[in-house]
Amino acid sequence: MNRTSRALKNSRVKVAVRCRPAFQDEIDFAKGEFVSIVQTKEESLASKDLGQVSLATISGKQRDFHYDYVFGEDTAQDYVYDRLARPIVNEVLRGVNGTIFAYGQTGTGKTYTMGILEFVNNEHAGLIPRAISQVFEHVHNVTSTTDCDVSITQSFIQLYREQIQDLLAPPSAEQDSLIIREDPVRGFYVEGLTEYVVSSYRESEALLNMGLENRAIAPTLMNATSSRSHTILTLNIEQRIHSDPQNPQQY
Ligand code: ADP
Ligand code: MG
Repeated sequence: MNRTSRALKNSRVKVAVRCRPAFQDEIDFAKGEFVSIVQTKEESLASKDLGQVSLATISGKQRDFHYDYVFGEDTAQDYVYDRLARPIVNEVLRGVNGTIFAYGQTGTGKTYTMGILEFVNNEHAGLIPRAISQVFEHVHNVTSTTDCDVSITQSFIQLYREQIQDLLAPPSAEQDSLIIREDPVRGFYVEGLTEYVVSSYRESEALLNMGLENRAIAPTLMNATSSRSHTILTLNIEQRIHSDPQNPQQY
């Protein structure tokens, strides 16, 4: 392991690459002239090796690229979730902020991986529905075993051409772009953003679907589901443990 890969391995920012299968029309269209995946190798936790994806270029050379995680064409959604997202959600539930974002060219599988094109509850469910499910499972466990309150709020925005649109705003609300402000205590926040209290997976799912519908029919933002628009779903989780004098709990 060289110095660069060691630095990457110790970083709090982890980078994963996911290679989706090529579609037949892509293969037909390229007429043999395309970069193909020779092999993917997962990271090895034991040896602390990074994952590797090897591509064959058109000129026949092989090039290797290294990432914290590499997911191959056959990798299932639940596997990506367990390796990549579950540890981040676990940290969030311990009070450490976490973000997962997908980056890549149109058609590479960002929406599929994140799971917000259609909110399904089967093996195709992406990271977001699975994360929401993990959060509510945690809430259920913690509230049934400890004397504590958990409150979760959800917001959903779309960024399109420098405009911020509140996807959960009531239909009658003004659709002017919202403004990002910075506060010494709260940090960055979107002023006037609609936040709903959610107490179950189903409620969270219903709000997400409502936001996706608003995204589709947003009057001021044409072509809103294009590659130039970005959506941000935020869950704010507040957990208050009531201390028991017999058995004091750490916050
Ligand atoms: P993006 O959001 O990056 O533009 P999509 O998530 O919409 O791309 O994916 C493009 C197409 O590829 C969709 O039809 C999606 O269902 C399919 N797809 C993406 N990732 C995978 C995968 N890992 N396995 C199978 N099909 C996939
Ligand atoms: Mg997409």
